[in-house]
Amino acid sequence: MIIGLDDTDSKEGMCTTYLAAVLIGKLEKYGTIKEYPLLIRLNPNIIYKTRGNAALAIQLLLRDRKDAEKAKKLVIETVEEMAVFSAENTNPGIVFIEEAPEKMRNELARFSMRAVKDVLEIHEAKELLLRHGISHRGFKNERGLIGALAAAGFALCGLPDYSYELIAYREKNRWGTLREIDEGSVWAADAATHPDTWDTVDYENKRIVFAPHSPDPILFGIRGNCETAVRDAFSMIKSEPVERYVVYKTNQNTDMHLINAKISEVQNDRSYILDGKVSGLPKTIEGGHVIFSISENGAALECAAFEPTKGFRNVVRQLRIGDDVTVYGSVKDRTLNVEKIYIKALNLHEYRNPMCCGKRMKSMGKGQGYRCEKCGAVNKEKVIETLKRNISPGFYEVPPSARRHLAKPLVRGHTIGAVSSCAHLHGEAQPACQHGQGKILS
Ligand code: ATP
Repeated sequence: MIIGLDDTDSKEGMCTTYLAAVLIGKLEKYGTIKEYPLLIRLNPNIIYKTRGNAALAIQLLLRDRKDAEKAKKLVIETVEEMAVFSAENTNPGIVFIEEAPEKMRNELARFSMRAVKDVLEIHEAKELLLRHGISHRGFKNERGLIGALAAAGFALCGLPDYSYELIAYREKNRWGTLREIDEGSVWAADAATHPDTWDTVDYENKRIVFAPHSPDPILFGIRGNCETAVRDAFSMIKSEPVERYVVYKTNQNTDMHLINAKISEVQNDRSYILDGKVSGLPKTIEGGHVIFSISENGAALECAAFEPTKGFRNVVRQLRIGDDVTVYGSVKDRTLNVEKIYIKALNLHEYRNPMCCGKRMKSMGKGQGYRCEKCGAVNKEKVIETLKRNISPGFYEVPPSARRHLAKPLVRGHTIGAVSSCAHLHGEAQPACQHGQGKILS
């Protein structure tokens, strides 16, 4: 039996992963948990999300099929007991998949992928559930059924790319208090296990980034390539007591949300990989955000490196008109929030006003040429000059402290183009690319 769960928490507390962790313990009375529980991140632009738009799936191998109804009852009761029903935006959903004919698998595979890349309606989930006779339970407006069904779909059909996260949970009496974690042990754990683990610490900003600051039950999460790596790191970390922990298989850090598209096809609330040429110079706006534009075939889009991306903004500030780039990120209000950028080719030439008497000549008006303010000499044309660039082509990414859950860090390897652009779950792995990481030159 596959159990999908979503939308049980609020900003003030709880977390659906914790509910899943508690359930895993309780369900052992009816069978064994098959494989890893799945922690699925859905479309990061969904306005209803509490934090990271997570949904969970657990696969239970029932010891006795007769216990199926008892197991379902236990799941529903646990959600009723633990979900924060009082929060307006908490609309829990639970899905139970017991049988899966081929047609249903194919439809679910498409639905799950759309939940990561697209914006779905509650009735789309309900229609699928009813048409295939999938047992489910929705609460309040039942929006959680979208995520619950999507997570269950991935458990059924598999993930084309995945990583792991070990999440350690706090003792209940400590929820809402400052987390006690020995920072030295965290840096040591990272040093011993990186690059098989990542985003535990942020070297550039000299910060530990694997622990949230919210009042939820999570103490910290360690992300990595395999169970051994995240467990090794975990064994080295000294902290307040861990109430329980779970190793999840996850679509985090896979770029699964990204759609390969053209700028003219971009829609708000989706995430993209877009090719273009820089058409608007980077400018720093109030709040320290850096905005530039790219265009392709007459279509243009603003791109932003927001203040929390810290040093990444210095990369973006080096861009010049005509640079050939690929940007990766989510679009909101017609602005792409850059998660990473591939600088394919730098524009090394620029048309400028001619020089005379040690200064730039002044334009005499459109099409009128240029005049030297000192000696009065006139020149008709602009001149081509070679630009000195302080950056090299390659990939650049935001620091771990600003990384979105789904964004694939360069340490996992980088490919040019989407990891999986089709609606099917069994996409082919992309070959590792030969291009290096870029450098800001001083
Ligand atoms: P939680 O820990 O409770 O899962 P969260 O930050 O993950 O918190 P939710 O509280 O689950 O966010 O809220 C997200 C809501 O949006 C859920 O009801 C989920 O079913 C729904 N949802 C997720 N993905 C999509 C999508 N692509 N289109 C429409 N709704 C979605």
